[in-house]
Amino acid sequence: MTTTDRALVLFSGGQDSTTCLAWALQRYSHVETVAFDYGQRHAIELQVRPAILQQMAALSPEWATRLGPDHLLDLGLLGQISDTALTKDVAIQMQDNGLPNTFVPGRNLLFMMVAATLAYRRGLNVLVGGMCETDYSGYPDCRDDSMKALQVALNLGMATRLKLETPLMWINKKETWQLAQQEGGAALVELIRSQTHTCYLGERGQLHAWGHGCGHCPACELRAKGYAEYAAASAA
Ligand code: ZN
Repeated sequence: MTTTDRALVLFSGGQDSTTCLAWALQRYSHVETVAFDYGQRHAIELQVRPAILQQMAALSPEWATRLGPDHLLDLGLLGQISDTALTKDVAIQMQDNGLPNTFVPGRNLLFMMVAATLAYRRGLNVLVGGMCETDYSGYPDCRDDSMKALQVALNLGMATRLKLETPLMWINKKETWQLAQQEGGAALVELIRSQTHTCYLGERGQLHAWGHGCGHCPACELRAKGYAEYAAASAA
């Protein structure tokens, strides 16, 4: 069932956010997209976005009608104020505090806050993000409680009634592939497999069964494992 709600999807060009975009296009009458350029090493994800948006619109006339403008915002200051393996050319490893050094403190909070300001201007009342508590890397700002607290803070601070939706919050990577299948069928799964970018190192490389990427960074490993489980469950 679709509603008259108008949504803004945090769309990075990865598997998760592309699945979220399909989820939103199935539900909302008008859907805009936003991405952030923060000097990420995997900036290639920003380059694959326009082609994915075009192909998403081509999958369904309804989606084509609902898909609104795309916004690309410069958040280069994040690279200036943080020091992590996502923005600097250093090896990905665990830190003493139990978090991998790919953790950019407050990144998702900042993204949601900036998205809320954009949504305010654009008259959009739902923010959709791919945050996930299930097989996340322990990023505390992906937690459901962080998002719920932020929703309260944003609505108090901006005098709005924004809804923060996180359709992937409680599902794992296998189930994320299954959600794509459910929302957009085999054509969407194939689009996500062959077009989206997940690899932390920004490596495009050859097309594996599960998509492009280096195959050994944490993001690639999660994606490959999830796809293998999804494929096995589909074949059973
Ligand atoms: Zn990788």
